[in-house]
Amino acid sequence: MSESPAPGELEDRLAAVRAAVAEAATAAGRTADDITTIVVTKFHPVGLIERLVELGVRDFGESRHQEASVKARQLANQDPPPDVVWHFVGQLQSKKAHAVREYARVIHSLDRASVVAALESPGPAVDGFVQVNLTADPGRGGLQLAGLESLVERVLAAGGINLLGVMAVAPVGEDARRAFLRLRAASERVCVLSPGSSAISAGMSDDYPDAIAEGATHLRIGSAITGNRPPRP
Ligand SMILES: *Cc1c(COP(=O)(O)O)cnc(C)c1O
Repeated sequence: MSESPAPGELEDRLAAVRAAVAEAATAAGRTADDITTIVVTKFHPVGLIERLVELGVRDFGESRHQEASVKARQLANQDPPPDVVWHFVGQLQSKKAHAVREYARVIHSLDRASVVAALESPGPAVDGFVQVNLTADPGRGGLQLAGLESLVERVLAAGGINLLGVMAVAPVGEDARRAFLRLRAASERVCVLSPGSSAISAGMSDDYPDAIAEGATHLRIGSAITGNRPPRP
C-alpha cells in the first residue's frame, strides 16, 4: 500500500486527473487554463516529487513544516534545481510561519491574526489564502466565517502578504458542492474588500469536480495522483 507507484501508474493517474479537471472545467463553462492543480505530496518521499517533476508537475503542496523544509532543500540543492512552487497547505504555527516563508511561495492556511503578524515582512511578498472553516465545529481548521472581514483587513494591512483569496476543506459528511457554495459566497465577501483576491483554493481527490463547479482556481490533490499515502513518518 505504501509502495511507490510502479512506472506508468503515476503517469496514468496524473493524466486521468488532468482529463477530469478539463472535463469539469468545460462542464462549468470555464477553461482548465485558469485552474492550478497542486499535487499534495505529504508523507511521500522526495523521489516521488522528482518523478512528478519529470511528468511536468510544477506545483507541490505540503502540510508539515519540518517535512516540507527538508524536501524543498533537497530539490533546491540539485544541479540544476527544478523549477517548482511550494504551497504550504497545513495548519501553520505562528512560531514557524517565518521559516515556512523561506521556501513556500504560497501559504493556504492564514487563519488567525497571530499567523498574519508572524508573516509580516518588508521583503518580497508571499502569496496567501485565508482559510475558512465550513463546519459548525470551531475546533476544525480555518477561521469561522463571522471573522472573515476582520482577518482579511488584517492581511491587507500587513506588509509582505499578497492575498490571493480563500481556501477551505469540504466538511466530512456533507455534500461537497453545497459546502463549496458557501466558500464561493465567502470569496465574494473577500472581493468586496479586495477585488483582486478572487482565487479559491478548494477541491481534493474526492471532491475536485464539485470544487471546479463552484469556481475553484487552485486544486489540492493528493492520493488521486500519488496513490495511497504512506503512514505519517
Ligand atoms: C492532504 C491534503 C490534501 C490532499 O488530500 P487528498 O484527499 O489526498 O487529495 C488537500 N488539502 C489539504 C489541506 C491536505 O492536508
